[in-house]
This record gives sequence, C-alpha cells and structure tokens, in this order.
Amino acid sequence: MRAGSILSRFHPHPHSVKIEGGALWAEIHREIEKYDLAMVGGTCSNVGIGGLVLAGGYGWLTGKYGLACDNLVGVEIVLANGEIVTASEEENKDLFWAVRGAGMAFGIVTTFMLRAFPQKNECWEGSLVFKPGKEVLKVILGVIERILGQENEEGENAMSMIWRVEGDQEEPSITTTIFHNGPAETGKEFFAPLLAANPLVNTTSMKYFSECCGSGEATNSNSSSCNGNFIARKLFKNSSRQRQRSLIGED
Ligand SMILES: Cc1cc2nc3c(=O)[nH]c(=O)nc-3n(C[C@H](O)[C@H](O)[C@H](O)COP(=O)(O)OP(=O)(O)OC[C@H]3O[C@@H](n4cnc5c(N)ncnc54)[C@H](O)[C@@H]3O)c2cc1C
Repeated sequence: MRAGSILSRFHPHPHSVKIEGGALWAEIHREIEKYDLAMVGGTCSNVGIGGLVLAGGYGWLTGKYGLACDNLVGVEIVLANGEIVTASEEENKDLFWAVRGAGMAFGIVTTFMLRAFPQKNECWEGSLVFKPGKEVLKVILGVIERILGQENEEGENAMSMIWRVEGDQEEPSITTTIFHNGPAETGKEFFAPLLAANPLVNTTSMKYFSECCGSGEATNSNSSSCNGNFIARKLFKNSSRQRQRSLIGED
C-alpha cells in the first residue's frame, strides 16, 4: 500500500505504519486518521515523506513525540550499488543511524516504517494575523516562552510564525499559526495573550488532526500554516490603499 498499511513485522510497536517512499503527507494523515492515529509530519502536508523524514522533520506533534526521524522504526533502501537492504535498530544499525538526518545521501528509501500514535480527539488550530508592532512582538515572545516552558511539558501546544511583506502591501504582517491538542476551551486559555492582542484575522476552530496539517488535495494543502500567508495577502490585497493604511495604523 502506498500509505497507511499498519504492520508490526519490523518493530514491536503496535502502531508502526509502512509507507512507500513517494507518498505525500496529506495522503498519510488522512489514511491513518481512519485508525484514530496520527504521526509527526509537517505542518503543511503538501510535501512528501522522503525529504521531510530523512532530513529531520518537525510538525505539530514534535513537542510531544520528537522529530519525524526520531519516529523512524526502519527503512527499506536502495543503495548506490543497487543492493536493496533493510535498516533498523536490529539490521544495518549504522545505516539506520545515518538515514535519520542525512538519509538522502545514503540511498533511495523505497519504504519507511514510522511510529504512529493514538489521536482520538480533535484539535484546536488556526491562524492569527497581526499588524506588526513592539507590543504584539512582546506577546508573541511571551507565548514562545510558554510553549518552551513547564506549562507545555506535555507538548500539547505549538506555534509557527511568519513575518512577510506581500505584493503591493506597504507594511509587513505577522501570521502566527497556533495548535492545541485538545478542546478549544483549554487552547484559548493557553493562547489567551495572543487572542487578546487584537488579531486582524482569527481562523482558529476545532478540526481533525489531518486538517491541522492540510487535508485538502495533496497538491493544494489547506492547512492554516500554509494558508496564513494567503489570508494575510488577501486581507491586504482586497483592501483599498486607504483600508490598507487604516489596517497598518496610519489613519
Ligand atoms: C510549503 C512547505 C511547507 C513545509 N513545512 C515543513 C514543516 O512543517 N516541517 C518540516 O520539517 N519541513 C517542512 N518543509 C520542508 C520540507 O520538509 C522539505 O522541503 C522536504 O524536502 C520535502 O520533502 P519532499 O520529499 O517533498 O521533497 P523533494 O524536493 O522531493 O526531496 C527533497 C530531497 O530529498 C530527497 N528524497 C525525497 N524522497 C526520498 C526518498 N524516498 N529516498 C531518498 N531521498 C529522497 C530528494 O532526492 C531531494 O534531495 C516545508 C516545505 C514546504 C515547501
């Protein structure tokens, strides 16, 4: 199967998933969700498994379960001499160590065996777009400290941030995408300072984990982290110059 074939042949972990080397994350997230499982993949799932896992890979569940490559159980890999081998904690240990971070330099991985984790609950996720300023930056830094601190010991909260100027926009916008692995109520509590910092756009809502990573067409991911910039761009582009000025505080 291209994605989502659950097996235990390579590892005693009950939720190891076997995925072929060309699968895209959107397909993987959607497939394993049928089994109430989730994996550490990218926050924007229109990318492939190969480049992401072999180079490390971080996503919404990294705070809880580590990098994507930390959850690699084994690979089937075609070496430069054409030999097809399996690498895991039990076989070809050196090669297994190497593929977890530099795998693309060691051969073509035809099969990945990755750990998946129970994910029964929906998550609270979305983008908040801000007009830049010292105050909002202070709030964002405060939230980053909370994410890295004791309050987030279980790794249930995560955030990405993008700062950019789009098209004919005169001022940059800041898009934070926030993720809480639990109900909206506790998510709003954790991210309260950001929510109180007057976001121009707030797309947070409850959704399946796959939707937090983009559950749309694999080539057209609709995750908030991919979408945040689109939202910011639309917000400014659809505005008259006067509206843009008022958004950035000149009126
Ligand atoms: C919109 C967007 C959002 C992103 N978000 C995240 C994120 O949230 N987290 C994160 O960690 N990264 C993220 N990235 C970075 C992403 O992980 C890398 O771009 C990664 O290389 C994508 O993997 P790919 O297989 O699609 O890439 P490709 O461009 O196809 O491949 C990248 C490299 O990996 C090699 N490769 C691919 N498959 C295999 C294989 N099966 N065996 C051996 N080598 C292989 C290719 O030869 C190439 O050298 C994002 C990228 C984009 C464009």
